Amino acid sequence: MILHIDMDAFFASIEQAVNPRFKGKPLIVGTRNNKFYTVVCAASYEAKRLGISSGMSSKEAFQICPDLEFVVAEQGKYIWTSEQILELVKGYGFETAYISIDEFQVDIGSETEPHKIAENIRKQIYANFNITASIGIAKNCLLAKLASKLNKPNGVAILTDENLTQILSHVPAKKLSGVGPKTEPLLVGFGINTCLELYQKPAEYLESILGKFGLNLYEGLHCEESFNLNPGTDPGIQGSVPGLVPDLPKSIGHSYTFPRGSRNPQFIRAWIRLLSEMVGRRLREQKLVSFTTHLWLNGPEIGNFSAQVTSDQATNDSYELYRRSLKIMAKKGLKTPEIRAMGVTAGSLSLDSYPVLFLEQKRREGLIKAMDRINDRFGEDSIYPAVITFTRKLK
Ligand SMILES: [Mg+2]
Repeated sequence: MILHIDMDAFFASIEQAVNPRFKGKPLIVGTRNNKFYTVVCAASYEAKRLGISSGMSSKEAFQICPDLEFVVAEQGKYIWTSEQILELVKGYGFETAYISIDEFQVDIGSETEPHKIAENIRKQIYANFNITASIGIAKNCLLAKLASKLNKPNGVAILTDENLTQILSHVPAKKLSGVGPKTEPLLVGFGINTCLELYQKPAEYLESILGKFGLNLYEGLHCEESFNLNPGTDPGIQGSVPGLVPDLPKSIGHSYTFPRGSRNPQFIRAWIRLLSEMVGRRLREQKLVSFTTHLWLNGPEIGNFSAQVTSDQATNDSYELYRRSLKIMAKKGLKTPEIRAMGVTAGSLSLDSYPVLFLEQKRREGLIKAMDRINDRFGEDSIYPAVITFTRKLK
């Protein structure tokens, strides 16, 4: 059996735990220090109950509730807490996977008392961090993740062979991870409204209406295997062959020419980070992942330098693109040459059309998604990693 642990209103709960004055109160976590001019990146359950949700402008939130408590997001604190919780869960001795900043999965094998294990984990998280988690238990990752949403917040739900049909018949298909705003109306068009209706469809049928994603969905719903931590053999990673997909771009890149040359390594790295951020964001928008990262630098000493690294792990994570670009620089021994222009390009692209849980275990995933949601709604640059501010100061 798989346990899917999902922290409840994670960022907001951490803030309430750190500052007891916020306990039991409607609270929002904002991305910027100006409480009337920021975006809600997390809301406590008390705020959610009033209709406040992440992605909303703080102005809107304050209109709903003028007495709202407000704090500025501190990513470091959330990542730290997430890592501590992961360590705690790993302490149970089962194979454990980091799914996102506030989600973890545990393969408890054929343990006979999964409910008890889940309760223990939940209680221990609460005792140590004063925040709550919801846990779903099922025969595979996809169903366990679904189950974690059924008794939220602060609850455990278990899907067994006995209750599966009965429970799934009440859950809309869109609750299933991977069934997004594009897939849902498609399913409804074919008369599939509930998770049960989806569950009961044969693989061939799902493939005929959803393509490869349909097959993955079928596999995700029905597999009884423990999760596979080796992404090399994961069904999602085999991926689509780029040549078979029409209209797939060959590469996605961004470049920038400085007003004048720079040797400042901090400045150069900050720019690589920003360009990687832009490339990663475009990859994610187009639901693509990239195997090859290409770095181009131009300067009086190095002329046109360009090199690439190819990884067997595809990514659309901006930070990972940045890391790979730095690797190229380090490998070529580029210390402090004068740089006048640079570009970061992602190549060997492939479609990223699988449920999240099939992909490599990506850290920062929650943060990336939250950032993209906010940037979608409030324009590029509403939120960006702190290091990028450096490029602004020196521009
Ligand atoms: Mg959560």
